[in-house]
Amino acid sequence: MAKVYYEKEIDKQVLQEKKIAVVGYGSQGHAHALNLRESGYDVVVGLRPGKSQQKAEEDGFKVYSVADAVKVADVVMVLLPDEHQTEVYEASIKPNLQSGNAMAFAHGFNIHFNQIVPPSDVDVFLVAPKGPGHLVRRTYEGGAGVPALYGVFQDVTGNAKQLSLAYSQGIGAARAGVLETSFQEETETDLFGEQAVLCGGLTNLIKAGFETLTEAGYQPEVAYFECMHEVKLIVDLLYEGGLENMRYSVSDTAQWGDFVSGPRVINDETKARMKEVLSEVQSGEFAKGWILENKANRPQFYAINALENQHPIEKVGKELRDLMPFVKQPLQATKEKQKD
Ligand code: NDP
Ligand code: MG
Ligand code: MG
Repeated sequence: MAKVYYEKEIDKQVLQEKKIAVVGYGSQGHAHALNLRESGYDVVVGLRPGKSQQKAEEDGFKVYSVADAVKVADVVMVLLPDEHQTEVYEASIKPNLQSGNAMAFAHGFNIHFNQIVPPSDVDVFLVAPKGPGHLVRRTYEGGAGVPALYGVFQDVTGNAKQLSLAYSQGIGAARAGVLETSFQEETETDLFGEQAVLCGGLTNLIKAGFETLTEAGYQPEVAYFECMHEVKLIVDLLYEGGLENMRYSVSDTAQWGDFVSGPRVINDETKARMKEVLSEVQSGEFAKGWILENKANRPQFYAINALENQHPIEKVGKELRDLMPFVKQPLQATKEKQKD
């Protein structure tokens, strides 16, 4: 079994002596900066002028330009969108890193796919929370944490592992468990998971179920509740106690249907497709496509996004959710506030 680290095994001192620059103050950035500060670490924020800068200042942080934040810090955590990291790294991070500093990431994409080639005299590590930034913050405030993976790409000082564990402790992840990984494993499993299961797999399963019911003449409202709304209730049971716990809670009829029909929907062919997706992630083909899409200003990304937002499940879903104000959790409320 993989080694999992918890709070009491972690030496905090190695990071307490250092100044941490959190670069970016979005989903992950705000959570890391606030949690680290409340865990007793010395944190500044690096940003360009704009909305995030204003928010970080309101939260009481000293906010520098990215270049100045890197200059004053010993540990630089890069929490910019993955597709902007390379340009900011070249312009503002690389020229200001000092020998013996550490540079860290929450996702291995740019290091693993060679978009950022770090200087050979700095530590490079990864602390990747396995959950959205707003939950990293919310669970920390509630005394818990989101688990994380840590990994070391380059260890110049001999401290890279201790630094990544202390950093994980600082954001609250060691309350839930911190596992060792490599940049390669984190990057490939993260990309595969979001494509095949969490985002791509789930959204397409939901849409296909909704379309099947509505095309057969059933009411869209009923199809929405069945194929979208109830997913959350089922996922909560899976999250709390795995497959057995979910199957214990649903009716035996539902469990029998799960056994006999589930494997016909997600079958060997689906798994063969998953293997295709995984091999495109492993070969760098997916990364190349996404990097080029960004270089071209995302023509496909925006076109597909517009089409997806017009899917009938979105229309009926919005109407029904407006009638159920209680489904709007703080995460949603936070998102709306940030958009103001
Ligand atoms: P967000 O898009 O939420 O936030 C990005 C931040 O970077 C914003 O504060 C933005 O500020 C700032 N920024 C963008 N461009 C620049 C620039 N050119 N110069 C300076 N600041 C800039 O990012 P995420 O938190 O989603 O992602 C950060 C990292 O965390 C990524 O590596 C991602 O893969 C990883 N990650 C994210 C997860 C998540 O929950 N979202 C989960 C696990 C890992 P401004 O307001 O000025 O635009
Ligand atoms: Mg990801
Ligand atoms: Mg039912």
